[in-house]
Amino acid sequence: MRSRYVAYALKNAKYIYQTYAQEKQTENPVNEIAAFANSCRFIKLSVIDAEQHELTADVEFCVSYFYQNLFCQLHEKSNFIKENGLWRYLDGEIFPVADIKVSRNDECPCGSGKKYKKCHSV
Ligand SMILES: [Zn+2]
Repeated sequence: MRSRYVAYALKNAKYIYQTYAQEKQTENPVNEIAAFANSCRFIKLSVIDAEQHELTADVEFCVSYFYQNLFCQLHEKSNFIKENGLWRYLDGEIFPVADIKVSRNDECPCGSGKKYKKCHSV
């Protein structure tokens, strides 16, 4: 799961695609993954809870990122399955978190203490 987050942050769409469960790959084409990753500025990943069994695992996490001038948080409980010895993302339950609109003179929500315009603004 961490490796998928890192891949999003590095915009490595191919890796994200390859770590989808096989049955989910056709509905998540590489170009759509790339378009999403390229439109976001990722800030941080917090793992809230994780449980691993022999062939299944679930991870509850929260990812913070900017999309345009919105500060967004994805809070999800993801299900992973082991296929051919590799952990792959199957699906997840998303807990809704409201996006926050950020203005240039606001304090940046990333926690740097700087103004948004001097930090994560584009
Ligand atoms: Zn910032």
